[in-house]
Amino acid sequence: MDEFTMPMNDTLFNINKLVRKNILNMKPYSSARDEFSGAAEVYLDANENPYKTNVNRYPDPHQVELKKAIGELKGISPDLIILGNGSDEPIDLLIRSFCEPTIDSVLLLEPTYGMYSVCADVNAVDVQRVQLSVNFDIDWELVRRSIDTSTKIIFLCSPNNPSGNLLSENKIDQLLNYFNGLVVIDEAYIDFAESNSYLQKLSKYPNLVVLQTFSKAWGLAALRLGACYASKEIIAVLNKVKYPYNINILTQQLALEAIQAVEIKNNWVTEIINSRKELALQLSSITIVEHIYPSDANFLLIKVKDANHTYTSLLKQGIIVRDRSKIPGCENCIRITVGTEYENKKLIEALKKL
Ligand SMILES: *Cc1c(COP(=O)(O)O)cnc(C)c1O
Repeated sequence: MDEFTMPMNDTLFNINKLVRKNILNMKPYSSARDEFSGAAEVYLDANENPYKTNVNRYPDPHQVELKKAIGELKGISPDLIILGNGSDEPIDLLIRSFCEPTIDSVLLLEPTYGMYSVCADVNAVDVQRVQLSVNFDIDWELVRRSIDTSTKIIFLCSPNNPSGNLLSENKIDQLLNYFNGLVVIDEAYIDFAESNSYLQKLSKYPNLVVLQTFSKAWGLAALRLGACYASKEIIAVLNKVKYPYNINILTQQLALEAIQAVEIKNNWVTEIINSRKELALQLSSITIVEHIYPSDANFLLIKVKDANHTYTSLLKQGIIVRDRSKIPGCENCIRITVGTEYENKKLIEALKKL
């Protein structure tokens, strides 16, 4: 066994050394509903309006019922879950809790989702950028050489946005074993993928953090609900830092209803995966389409002859796609979300006209 595959264990990974000192030492806000959570007849503790509007009372700050439902669905204990206003919130919480501004850094594998670097910038945390290989997988040697003593968090996105592919499991495992900081795996698109979620490896890796969202497969983007899964110790840190009532009551109720009808989500996923295959087939017969990247998500990244021209021509026909051609590694690439049968047909017709 060489030094790079040395197994991560609790003695190597010390959460108290990783977390920012001010966060470690702070006392979190204690809300009215933290100090009393049970049932009572008269509630005069939170300065709420007593007249019933359905939303006049503060929501459960710990989302006990919703986390229980998510936990049962995923086979995870609720104390390994923190919920956020979209998964964008835990991305910010992680950086804010573990990275000392102007001293620590986060490492990103590009091209990838834009929010990691935005949250780092907002928090004055340095970004170390490593390019993914030509097939958008982890270049292990490059990553290993880029990690230094300032690196606190490595963000992996699998399936990756905008490329659509899963990162290879053995390289992710290698990284989890090698790196002493947090390895965050953003699984926003995992429902559409062939492979298993990293949730099942939470007990194996104390430094693993998994992000999932209700914005894609679940069809609840406007609700703003994301889930972050990690060890009890990591979740406890994030719970100290999050706003007390970060998930509103309507979101909690609607998400619970969606989970109780999970087969609706599963049917959409099957439908979208079939449409993705069909769309890829149709795209492959269009002359300006030079390459269709393999996708484990609900979108396709395609390379065209002239991305700018394709984008503006589609726009003129009332079809919006995402121009990713300015991003290093995505030259002349366009990202297309898999739509309804009708939307996909309109796209193909429009592309054929170019
Ligand atoms: C869409 C997306 C998200 C979801 O963000 P929300 O804030 O949960 O809506 C997270 N990560 C990636 C990579 C995404 O593409």
